[in-house]
Amino acid sequence: MDRSALKPLVVLGATGSIGTQTLEVASRLDVAVVGLAARRGSPAFLDLADQHPDAAVVVAAPAGDERARFESKLGNRVRFGPDSLVELAASPGATVVNGVVGAAGLEASVAALQAGNRLALANKESLVAGGPVLEAARTAGGGELLPVDSEHSALLQCLTGEDIEAVGRLILTASGGPFRERSAASLADVTVAEALAHPTWDMGPRISIDSATLMNKAFEVIEAHFLFGLPYDQIDVVVHPQSIVHSLVEFVDGSLKAHLGEPDMRVPIQFALTFPDRHPGPLQPFSLADHTLTFQEPDRQAFPLLDLGYEAGRRGGSAPAVLNAADEIAVQAFLDGRIGFGAIPRVVEGALEAVALRELHTVADVMEVDAEARSVASELAGTC
Ligand code: NAD
Ligand code: MG
Repeated sequence: MDRSALKPLVVLGATGSIGTQTLEVASRLDVAVVGLAARRGSPAFLDLADQHPDAAVVVAAPAGDERARFESKLGNRVRFGPDSLVELAASPGATVVNGVVGAAGLEASVAALQAGNRLALANKESLVAGGPVLEAARTAGGGELLPVDSEHSALLQCLTGEDIEAVGRLILTASGGPFRERSAASLADVTVAEALAHPTWDMGPRISIDSATLMNKAFEVIEAHFLFGLPYDQIDVVVHPQSIVHSLVEFVDGSLKAHLGEPDMRVPIQFALTFPDRHPGPLQPFSLADHTLTFQEPDRQAFPLLDLGYEAGRRGGSAPAVLNAADEIAVQAFLDGRIGFGAIPRVVEGALEAVALRELHTVADVMEVDAEARSVASELAGTC
């Protein structure tokens, strides 16, 4: 593959799990990094800025003396605030990796697509909260939307060369998280440390908790719906504790195609950068004989957020945005020790009931629903 064909990279959420792995992939592929953004002006972010002297730098929400420190070290290479994040995403001719966490990533996703850029999307909350808005931005700007999420990268790879009409089902695999074998009753008082200890993936705190509740899998069902345009009846979930099969497609003739590999986010990140080409990756050859693969149905009683996610997806409009915002509040309340693990689904369900359904046309529409859902969820979290 011709490396010079790869577009320069903008990495949003550069200090996070996805961001740092993206920078590692970029360095191996020898792709230019022209933009870096993170929420805070931490020493780790300053180090990254030093390692990439040609990159424009954005600190979205500087605190304390971070602004002064970054300005004195980086001069006019650094900008501040959420508007600068959005401008960076619209850098002409770039591939934008969105590794921001939460709905805060939505406007940057929209800007990247509207500018005609390739958007390598890890920030699934963008699609969950603002699916119709992102779709409109892609059509208007001619940008390209490629998934970084491992399941959706797997689905894209299984679907490439196939007619979408010939698809029977998309089957997303779920590791089941750290509480796979637990009953609903035993989940009420698990600790934050237990919930953060994901068995197969090393990720940021929000997605780790979302994996423990299966909210993450529900988000991924909605993500798959928007990415591949299939109805919810044709999107299934199966628990696969080893995380070796990353997802499958079942076709109308009864054939199944699966995507397999070690659980390592550098592989789907790289594929989103090099698509449709492939380039040598970081992993050793895979040994099938070293693995036993098992599959089971998800426990929908113990993990009610999975079905609630389907319900929100089918309702459409603002419902998935409410789901995401309420979950963001509930997860933070759990991480802060303000609510128990068992209260997370109650907060999300309560918010979904309380916020009136409406259509979403613009980022402002999404952010309005997001704010309302956060306020309702905060109130509910206070009474749990
Ligand atoms: P993380 O918590 O490790 O990192 C989040 C990054 O986003 C940090 O760099 C932080 O500074 C930045 N950020 C947060 N709020 C911001 C804001 N308002 N403006 C600008 N930057 C902001 O999270 P992560 O695990 O890397 O996850 C990032 C996204 O990727 C999430 O949407 C997650 O669901 C998705 N994802 C992650 C993984 C994984 O393996 N970590 C896998 C699939 C999908
Ligand atoms: Mg995933």
